[in-house]
Amino acid sequence: MKVSMSCTSDYDSKYDWDCNCQGGEDGLVIQRKGGAYNTAFFEAFPRNPSCFLRGEGSSIEEAEEDCWQKYQVVRTCKHEIMERRGRTDGYAYCTKCSYSSTVFEPLTKCCKCGKSTAYTQDYKGKYYCEKHGVTKPKNPNPGKYDWDIRHRVPRKRKKLLKKCAKLKFAEKGRYGKVKYTYKLAIKFTCDDYRLDLLFKKHEKDLIRKYGRS
Ligand SMILES: [Zn+2]
Ligand SMILES: [Zn+2]
Repeated sequence: MKVSMSCTSDYDSKYDWDCNCQGGEDGLVIQRKGGAYNTAFFEAFPRNPSCFLRGEGSSIEEAEEDCWQKYQVVRTCKHEIMERRGRTDGYAYCTKCSYSSTVFEPLTKCCKCGKSTAYTQDYKGKYYCEKHGVTKPKNPNPGKYDWDIRHRVPRKRKKLLKKCAKLKFAEKGRYGKVKYTYKLAIKFTCDDYRLDLLFKKHEKDLIRKYGRS
């Protein structure tokens, strides 16, 4: 199966994943004791069970193997003990394997009817359920505060990320115009290269590596 890679050409996966996958050869891993090393990563988004898995290794082949082994454990585990780990939206992590998903009711409640929900938030941070989402007040000062953080990247951060992406592309010999798009995740493109920043961790890794120069 062809797997799209950030900053390198497609990779032919060893396993038949039957779900969206992506990878890269220079994911940066920060160690707890300080210091960082470069690593390849392989990420899969299985549908059954629906979750996100990430494998790492010194090569993309190793990273895929690591990810696949995690997937095998996820498939046989019963996920008996799930914990929220500080999240309030119902999303939780299995304590025995790499499985994570929305399995609990959100801890936050709709400010209109009191129903447990994490459906949407207004500019003051109040929650609304799906039914009452339409009554959500509009932000009188748009642009300044936006609680729908998944769809808004602060201008300063965007600028920094773009600068880092530019350095990363240059490292790969791509010096063209760097374009920013947002569709489910932050995406930078430059000529034929693409860089997806799917999670906050990816943004942090990129800034750690290129932010200081
Ligand atoms: Zn589990
Ligand atoms: Zn409600």
